Amino acid sequence: NLILAIETSCDETSVAVVENGHRLLSNIVASQIKSHMRFGGVVPEIASRHHVEQITQCIEEALEEASVAYQELSAVAVTNGPGLVGALLIGVNAAKAIAYAYNLPLIAVNHMAGHIYANRLIQPLVFPLLALVVSGGHTELVYMEEDGKFEIIGETRDDAAGEAYDKIGRVLGLPYPGGKRIDEMAQIGKDTYHFPRAMLKDDNYDFSFSGLKSSFINLVHNAKQKGEELDADNLAASFQASVVEVLVTKTIRAAKELGVKQLVLAGGVAANQGLRNGLSKAMAQELPEVEFLIPPLALCGDNAAMIGAAAYIEYNQQQFADYDLNAQPGLTFDSYEGTLS
Ligand code: ATP
Ligand code: MG
Ligand code: FE
Repeated sequence: NLILAIETSCDETSVAVVENGHRLLSNIVASQIKSHMRFGGVVPEIASRHHVEQITQCIEEALEEASVAYQELSAVAVTNGPGLVGALLIGVNAAKAIAYAYNLPLIAVNHMAGHIYANRLIQPLVFPLLALVVSGGHTELVYMEEDGKFEIIGETRDDAAGEAYDKIGRVLGLPYPGGKRIDEMAQIGKDTYHFPRAMLKDDNYDFSFSGLKSSFINLVHNAKQKGEELDADNLAASFQASVVEVLVTKTIRAAKELGVKQLVLAGGVAANQGLRNGLSKAMAQELPEVEFLIPPLALCGDNAAMIGAAAYIEYNQQQFADYDLNAQPGLTFDSYEGTLS
């Protein structure tokens, strides 16, 4: 089984060839970050234009690197949501064109399912599992009883973790997206500012990061007014300590209460060293019998290989999309499963 997978939900144009849902033969990622940097965020119109310019070459490169011809493909998979509508449409239409031209089944993949299935490129998933999905637009705990079944048991009530990182990055004058740089600064600094740990003790699996973000901004603002010096590395470390403590504590609690066999980390913020280390340590101490998977750094951010891995499940269930497949910018796991059944 060879799946050509396409991902254009945000600011990465990516195309991959994945064999049997877990063997990555190629994974081309063309990032547009440089074009969006000067605007301090992703500009949807610019993202769409870049996808149009990049997609054909990415498809050709992915096939060439994998040494696979169109005729050998089993299916074409594409992210149809969630994401930016104009960006998604480029990938969806490219996938439809290939499916039509080569008479291949078309598979629609939920981007967040893709993030979770990035782990399948490393090791088999073991069910029931719990996924902590932390990205630029989402922060959620997803319970999976079996392949292709997703239940959100907790999520952020306001900002996503990655969004909070990028917002405080802007306050610190870092280029967009600031997440990675703050993580690096946090490795040097210490938790000297003791920011609040939101919803840590609440009896649910939800998160909140906007209060933390406000505390951070107020502290920086007040210090500026008083002419006080702040240590940027310590600020980053203090912010990260709060984010990591809340994410780790609630994830471990959920994994214990649900009695899962595996815990997987997923999404762009899964690249965060503080989170990777914090969760690994807590798992080793508190749930040594539960297997813990973290994708390698290259598979944490947006990429098409993860879409190919998730698509394989749908392929096996013969869940194919029609040519009237559309982009669904607000696609959720609920609406996704609706299309699956
Ligand atoms: P979504 O997946 O929710 O649709 P997205 O696709 O835009 O959103 P991803 O590409 O999965 O998001 O992740 C990007 C986010 O990850 C950005 O907010 C970025 O700052 C953050 N990020 C990347 N590396 C790190 C890191 N080392 N520490 C913290 N955040 C990071
Ligand atoms: Mg991105
Ligand atoms: Fe993403």
